[in-house]
Amino acid sequence: MAAPWEDVLRDRPAIREAAAVAVDAALLQGVLMRTEGQPNASDVVNFAPFTLLPSPVPSALFEQAYAVQQDFNMLVDAISQNKEFLEHTLASTIKVDDFTARLFRIYTQVLEEGLAQSVFLGINRSDYMFDSGVDGPPALKQIEINTIAASFGGLTSRTVAVHGQVLKVLGKPQEASRLLPNNPSRGLALGIAKAWELYGSPSAVVMFLVEEVQRNIFDQRCVENELWNRDIRVIRKRFRDVFEKGSLDEARRLYMDGQEVAVVYYREGYVPSNYDEQNWEARLLLERSRAVKCPDIATQLAGTKKVQQELSRPGTLERLLPGHAEAVTRIRATFAGLYSLDMGAEGDKVAAMAIADPDRFVLKPQREGGGNNLYGEELRQVLEKIRDSPQRTSYILMDKIKPRPAMNYLLRAHSPLQVSECISELGIFGVYLRRGSELVLNEAVGHLLRTKAVEHADGGVAAGVAVLDTPYLV
Ligand code: ADP
Ligand code: MG
Repeated sequence: MAAPWEDVLRDRPAIREAAAVAVDAALLQGVLMRTEGQPNASDVVNFAPFTLLPSPVPSALFEQAYAVQQDFNMLVDAISQNKEFLEHTLASTIKVDDFTARLFRIYTQVLEEGLAQSVFLGINRSDYMFDSGVDGPPALKQIEINTIAASFGGLTSRTVAVHGQVLKVLGKPQEASRLLPNNPSRGLALGIAKAWELYGSPSAVVMFLVEEVQRNIFDQRCVENELWNRDIRVIRKRFRDVFEKGSLDEARRLYMDGQEVAVVYYREGYVPSNYDEQNWEARLLLERSRAVKCPDIATQLAGTKKVQQELSRPGTLERLLPGHAEAVTRIRATFAGLYSLDMGAEGDKVAAMAIADPDRFVLKPQREGGGNNLYGEELRQVLEKIRDSPQRTSYILMDKIKPRPAMNYLLRAHSPLQVSECISELGIFGVYLRRGSELVLNEAVGHLLRTKAVEHADGGVAAGVAVLDTPYLV
């Protein structure tokens, strides 16, 4: 999997010059983030961290990831409509995990009342690593699927031009011409626009539900601007605004400041720290409304790690997707080993297996956003402590994927320029739209490559560990 620029990797003057060009190109292209010091103002901004060079990605695995995306869209949509499956799957988790329990409570509450929403929009990102087989070729293995607030579809569309220029500066114009164009944000906006259209009220707006701290606003603006270009009005509001100014009419239409909202696009709401009591109330109000939530709460639950683990049980995919044998085969081929820690003999055996050989596994709680997983010695210690307690069921266990590293430079503001051994994670963005029971859109709309130094076990771009990258197919 060696890249065709190994020759220049250690040529310091050439690398230094290329890095200077790269940073300016990133700023010009809009690979931007607000600063830690001023996270809510755009007076001072910086480039979002990125790799100096594209990273090699096996083309067969890249194609495989695209080819399975519509299947995953269909699967997530099916899970979100399967109350029995969600109830059964999350039963043990919600006994010990308060956050999942709270989401689940809203889910059952809105179902009991009856859904006012009839148009459903899913935007997800399925993430993979390339597991280096013992002797065979590398294999595509899913890390997780993100069904809420999947980010970087905007900024990633702008790294191609940056990396193309870097390759030219380094005397590799032919390689530059092979980089694939990529614009997930256009596809995400297209999904939101179609949902807005199906909602059927031309004066209604699209509401981005945003965080209190908005460092990654430029990524969101990419999607937002595509909507303005289609003459769709976008407002940006926080849970707090919804609590203060949101209301429903008798038909459960959602209003913010007197404006009807057709689509709510969540870029917030996926971790416990996003919620206080008022925010939970705001979330309930949104879920009860007719507005198209992206995602609705059922789809958010479909993206939990516990659901991911249960999907790997023999027969489960077949039950969820009857009549789709080929899709089931494609999906299953991407699964790594996943194990339940539910109470009972099976869970006891899994816990013992992990404690005996912790470096083979990752221990994952029901959390999103990076930095929550446990590895190695820490995994062993935590699991030993909770092995006989129901607390263990708030985790799942997963085989650790071991990708082959490649050398690259990770460019971050105020950081020294040094070569690092890196591994990458490929994400594919999926968009689908359902009206009643009819799937009217189901697409893969682009990709994201994130790369980190091997010494970091965990964490994404927002967590400050991984950086943006562009795949170079080999
Ligand atoms: P989160 O919801 O926090 O993003 P992930 O499941 O994506 O949770 O895990 C976070 C990071 O941990 C991933 O981006 C990846 O770098 C690493 N990771 C997760 N699962 C595995 C695994 N099975 N093998 C190797 N690394 C993993
Ligand atoms: Mg992740």
